Amino acid sequence: MSGLTDKTIAELRDGVRGGDFSAREVAEAFNAAVEAGGQLNAWTVTTPELALEAADAADAARARGELKPLSGVPLGIKDLFCTEGVDSTTGSNILKGFKPPYESTVSGKLKADGAGMLGKLNMDEFAMGSSNETSAYGPVISPWKRKDGGNAALTPGGSSGGSAAAVAAGMAPGVTGTDTGGSIRQPAAFTGICGIKPTYGRCSRWGIVAFASSLDQAGPMARTVKDCAIMLESMAGFDPKDATSLDLPVPNWEAGLSSDLKGKRVGIPREYRIDGVPDEINAIWDRGIEWLKDAGAEVVDISLPHTRYALPTYYIIAPAEASSNLARYDGVRYGLRDVPEGGNLDAMYATTRDDGFGAEVKRRIMIGTYVLSAGFYDAYFTKAQKVRTLIKRDFREAFAKCDLILTPTAPSAAFGLGEKMSDPLAMYLNDVFAVPASLAGLPAMSVPGGVDGQGLPLGLHLIGKELDEQSVLNAGLAIEERSGFKARAEKWW
Ligand code: GLN
Repeated sequence: MSGLTDKTIAELRDGVRGGDFSAREVAEAFNAAVEAGGQLNAWTVTTPELALEAADAADAARARGELKPLSGVPLGIKDLFCTEGVDSTTGSNILKGFKPPYESTVSGKLKADGAGMLGKLNMDEFAMGSSNETSAYGPVISPWKRKDGGNAALTPGGSSGGSAAAVAAGMAPGVTGTDTGGSIRQPAAFTGICGIKPTYGRCSRWGIVAFASSLDQAGPMARTVKDCAIMLESMAGFDPKDATSLDLPVPNWEAGLSSDLKGKRVGIPREYRIDGVPDEINAIWDRGIEWLKDAGAEVVDISLPHTRYALPTYYIIAPAEASSNLARYDGVRYGLRDVPEGGNLDAMYATTRDDGFGAEVKRRIMIGTYVLSAGFYDAYFTKAQKVRTLIKRDFREAFAKCDLILTPTAPSAAFGLGEKMSDPLAMYLNDVFAVPASLAGLPAMSVPGGVDGQGLPLGLHLIGKELDEQSVLNAGLAIEERSGFKARAEKWW
C-alpha cells in the first residue's frame, strides 16, 4: 500500500480508526520510505522498530476500542529533542552517542497520544543555522530541484532541515521542529510544507537541548494546516518542569479550524518591503493579500518601525544565551571527552570543546561571550534587551489595528548547498522576516503560497497575537484553500 505515504496525518488517523488499513501497514510504508530516502541524509538515526511497536500498540488499542488521538501515526523527531534510550545528538559531535535516560516533555506527549517514532532528524548543529549545513552529520539534501538548474543539490533550509525534507519527501506525515529565530518556518517555506511556532511557553522546553532559552519553541511541521493543528494540540500544554511553560488550557485547535475570516483585520507591515527581495516573493505576498480578502478579511497597512533592528538584536541575544547554555558541554557530563596526553582538567575542557563543536557553534559562543563580558555587557546585551522590548511594543501597537499580520516567510527560495556557507551575514539574512515574531514570543506560521520560476516553493508567513494560534491556523487554512498548492518534489532519490 504505497499510497499510504501520500496521506495526511488526519487521513492516517481516521483511516486506522475506521479500519481502512492497519497502523502496522502505515508504519511499514513509512519505514520503507525512510529507507528509500537515505540519500537525502535527513535522519541521524532511524528507529523502524519503535514505529512498529507503537503501530502494534495502536492496532491492539483499536481492537479494544481505546484509540488515542495519534494512534497509528508515525512521526519524525528533530534530534534536538531528548528521546529516552535513543541517540540525541543535536547534530553535534559533542553529543555523539548520547542516549538520554529521559524523554522530552513534547516527544513524550506525542508518544503518550499514540504516535510512533520513525527516527531522529538531522539538523544544524545545536539548531544554529539556516541551511542544515552546520550539522556534524553533513547537510540534508532537499528533495526539491530547480527546474533548469541541472542537478544542483539544494538546501531544505534550517535548522529543522531534516524535519522539512522528511515531510516533503513523504518519509514522515509530520515531524517536530524547533524555532528560535525561524527554524520551523524557513525550512517549511523552502520545502513547500506547513510549520507553526506557537506562542512562547505553549510547548514545554523540558528535554529539548537548549540553544537560546528565551526564544526556543517547539512546533509541528506537516503537509497541511489541519495536520499542524492536530500535532500542536498534542505537543502543547503546561509542564511544571519548565519555568516558562504557560499554565493555560490547550485549545481544541482542530475543531476550531475555519477559513471564514469575516471580521478579521490583516496587517501588512510596510517595513517588510525590503530592497533586494526578488519580485516573485513580493508577488506571492500580494496574492496572499488577495486570498485573505477573498476569505472575508479586511487588509490594513501597519508599521513595525523597529523591524530593521530585529536581526542584529537576535544575533546578540541568541548567541549570548547560547554561550551560557553550551557551557555545560565540558567533557564531564555528556557525550564526548577528549583528554590530551598528560593534560589537566582545563586541557580536557578545552580539547573536548575544540573537537566537539563545529565552526558556527564556536562563532556563536565567541560572540555570546563577548557581548556578555563585563566591558561590553551594557553596550551590547543590555541594549539588545531594550530593543527587544521596543520590537515587542511595535507588535502590541500594531495589534491594536489588526488581528493578524501577513508577510513572506523568507527573502528567497531554497538556495544551493555551499552557496552561503562562506558568508555568515548572507546566511543570517534568511531569518529577516521570521526573527521579529521570535523576539516578541508570538505565534507564527509558514504555509506554502506557490512556486517561483524555478518551480521551487515559496512560503507565506502569518503572525498572530499572543496565544491566538487559532487565528493564525485559520488564516493559514484560508490561504491553503485558495493557493491550490499541490506541488510535490519529483521523486529522484
Ligand atoms: N537561523 C537562525 C540561527 O541560525 C535561527 C535558528 C533557529 O531558529 N533555531 O540562529
